[in-house]
Amino acid sequence: MIVEIISVGTEILLGNIVNTNAAYLAEKCAGLGLSCYYQDVVGDNEERLTDVLKTALSRADILLLSGGLGPTQDDLTKEVTAKVLGKNMYLHEPSKEAIAAYFQKKRMEITDNNWKQAMVPEGCIVIDNPNGTAPGIIIEENGKHVVLMPGPPNEMIPMFENAVMPYLNTLEPGIIYSQTIKICGIGESKAESMIEDLIDAQTNPTIATYAKTGEVHLRVTAKAEDEKEAKKLLKPVIKELKSRFGNHIYTTQEDVTLEKAVVDLLLANDLTVSTVESCTGGMLAARLINVSGVSEVFKTGYITYSNKSKRKIIGVKKAMLQKYGAVSPEVAKEMAKGGALFAKSDVAVGITGIAGPDGGSDEKPVGLVYIACSVCGRVSVKECHFSGNRAKVRESSVAAALSLMRESILAYYSEVTFGSKKS
Ligand code: ATP
Ligand code: MG
Repeated sequence: MIVEIISVGTEILLGNIVNTNAAYLAEKCAGLGLSCYYQDVVGDNEERLTDVLKTALSRADILLLSGGLGPTQDDLTKEVTAKVLGKNMYLHEPSKEAIAAYFQKKRMEITDNNWKQAMVPEGCIVIDNPNGTAPGIIIEENGKHVVLMPGPPNEMIPMFENAVMPYLNTLEPGIIYSQTIKICGIGESKAESMIEDLIDAQTNPTIATYAKTGEVHLRVTAKAEDEKEAKKLLKPVIKELKSRFGNHIYTTQEDVTLEKAVVDLLLANDLTVSTVESCTGGMLAARLINVSGVSEVFKTGYITYSNKSKRKIIGVKKAMLQKYGAVSPEVAKEMAKGGALFAKSDVAVGITGIAGPDGGSDEKPVGLVYIACSVCGRVSVKECHFSGNRAKVRESSVAAALSLMRESILAYYSEVTFGSKKS
């Protein structure tokens, strides 16, 4: 079935708020196996909303609207939709009671215009909204399904998950089941080119790639009669993806982040870790410390931003800084070695780079970052060239550092095959 996402609100048109609802709904629809060909943004304006609704009804089976269900005059999504679909409105008593209860609970006074929110189009399905006052609404007309949801994400998201998603699932028999494969150390275009033939040939299951900073997620989605059947369909595709991406896959679990995968690897091998950061200023340490249980392995995080601190705190030689410069593979290595030495950790990471916007040169441009990782004395270093603004360069550096940590630990254990690994 074809779905169209319509975001209603002049604030979105003016750029005052970011349209996160559309991004959320689009991702969910893809996961549900619904095809979305158009997204619309329209202001709180009767004529233009009417136009958008008519166009969307002509080309989609399901319309998902958010915004404009509030109590004020400018909120007119419900009224305009009812008009377009030729429905009269009536006072929905349970919604009226829910609104009264909501205000009483919040010790707030009800103003007359709040009752407007209890008016619904005839014959519709009303969805309660425990997080606000505007109920959600589903109207079925001539084989089309029009869903109205409130604009605030903290109301829309639970409503979508609890009521709209199950409803959409009933429209097409069978279930949608997905599994995510998370990859690091390979860029999106490379990852896509490695599975181009699979993507071209896909019908059921489908494979979608999502680029994240420093990682790529592949979502494999099957549509089947039941979960057992869906899993059977997914199995050979997942197997093929595993054989193509091998060690680059850091997890196949939805809730495992890259930092969690790295911390799990440290825990599994009984390795402690320290970080020595320059341009990322502690962001790598912060990401590792996102993971509960990291206290077992995390020793110290150093922020050595100035040359002096690189010398004084972790012992990088002055001559080395002068000869190679702070942003160099040599200094990155010394930072990692210094971290391991001073924190007495098995694994240590050094990051040094030019995050910009100033400080770049022809020889060392903005975005140049060196990351070194020492695993039990074996040091590897990676040169990275990132694009984007300062924040993006720093974020990419952290993701690349996590990826390098994983790679270096795996490489260490595949090479060290006997004796004490921590000699
Ligand atoms: P309210 O009862 O708060 O008026 P509403 O259903 O009428 O809710 P809007 O008035 O359109 O919704 O938007 C209310 C708020 O919800 C906005 O100020 C914004 O914070 C958030 N919001 C609305 N639409 C979106 C969207 N598409 N993406 C993200 N946030 C949104
Ligand atoms: Mg509003």
